[in-house]
Amino acid sequence: MTKAEVTENTYQAADAKLRAYIRSKEMRPSKVRNMVLRQVCILKKPFTADQLVKACEADRISVGTVYNSLRLFVDAGILRGTNRQRGQIATEYELQTDKDCVMQIICTRCGRVARIDDKAVHHLVTTRKYSNFNMAHFSLYVYGECKICRRLTMIAQQ
Ligand SMILES: [Zn+2]
Repeated sequence: MTKAEVTENTYQAADAKLRAYIRSKEMRPSKVRNMVLRQVCILKKPFTADQLVKACEADRISVGTVYNSLRLFVDAGILRGTNRQRGQIATEYELQTDKDCVMQIICTRCGRVARIDDKAVHHLVTTRKYSNFNMAHFSLYVYGECKICRRLTMIAQQ
């Protein structure tokens, strides 16, 4: 895949999230907002609001529109903001992927960790609404005993 194709795929995925969010909030689609989203996908790497404003200058998009769009993209789960200290504190934004929702099973005996992809649990958690809270991503750790340790325990008990 070329760089342009990767950017286009990223944009299509982000746009799908945006459309679903806009529909759920009964908002109107906006051409300018989508132009900002395209710039986000071109920047891709963690970026600051200032960097996005600069990237949108060529399209003559106002600073206010960029900031409003940023907030909306975070609310829609397209971007997540992290505060990183680099000389000064500035919020950096980066595209959120489904990989941000982490589920792991951990053996309390041997410490073995396995990543699991439980679609039903993933769906349950990501579609929950908590009052006064906007979920960005989640981590779930499930503790127990792995197959190997369980077998060893059973042998020891014999
Ligand atoms: Zn184990």
